[in-house]
Amino acid sequence: MARYGMTVDQKLCVTCNACVLACKNENAVPEGEARCWTVQVEKGEFPLLSLETRSERCNHCENAPCVSACPTAASHYDIGGIVVVDPNKCIGCKVCTLACPYEVRYLHPDGYIDKCTFCVHRVKEGKDPACVTVCPTKALTFGDLDDPRSEIFRQLQSRPARVLKPEEGTRPRFFILP
Ligand code: SF4
Ligand code: SF4
Ligand code: SF4
Repeated sequence: MARYGMTVDQKLCVTCNACVLACKNENAVPEGEARCWTVQVEKGEFPLLSLETRSERCNHCENAPCVSACPTAASHYDIGGIVVVDPNKCIGCKVCTLACPYEVRYLHPDGYIDKCTFCVHRVKEGKDPACVTVCPTKALTFGDLDDPRSEIFRQLQSRPARVLKPEEGTRPRFFILP
């Protein structure tokens, strides 16, 4: 059984937003909403300033509060632990949105909660997520965190990755490479 995750390499991401556009096309994301976005964060103090650049999305947490909070089981784990929402079961109550510490969910105009799915429909066909495929600098890597032959496994063995808000105890599977 795979355990899927994704990395973003801050050395490579140039915040070009190609991933954001590809995601919108692939997943018919409604106007004004997004399943992923880019951030530029200033770190340090003048004159020792540095700029962190990355694309962000749902962290596909291993211990996902959105899943445990959902009253209808619409939010659930799919293959390899990918966290998804079943639009047919979702009643749009937003309990999951409040439970998630990362602000990655939005209310779809059709009345259900939507967010990044790690493009699970593509993964089931053996393809990479759309954002990973289009990134011109190869800043995004998707794969099985437990497979020693995978690129993501090698990355996480050789570089000190971090996750967002580790103190929340959600155990994200979206990793930021320095
Ligand atoms: Fe960064 Fe790649 Fe997305 Fe461009 S496509 S913003 S380089 S992750
Ligand atoms: Fe759920 Fe938020 Fe974690 Fe995504 S980032 S799995 S929406 S708690
Ligand atoms: Fe969008 Fe798919 Fe990338 Fe998630 S994995 S941000 S759904 S393109």
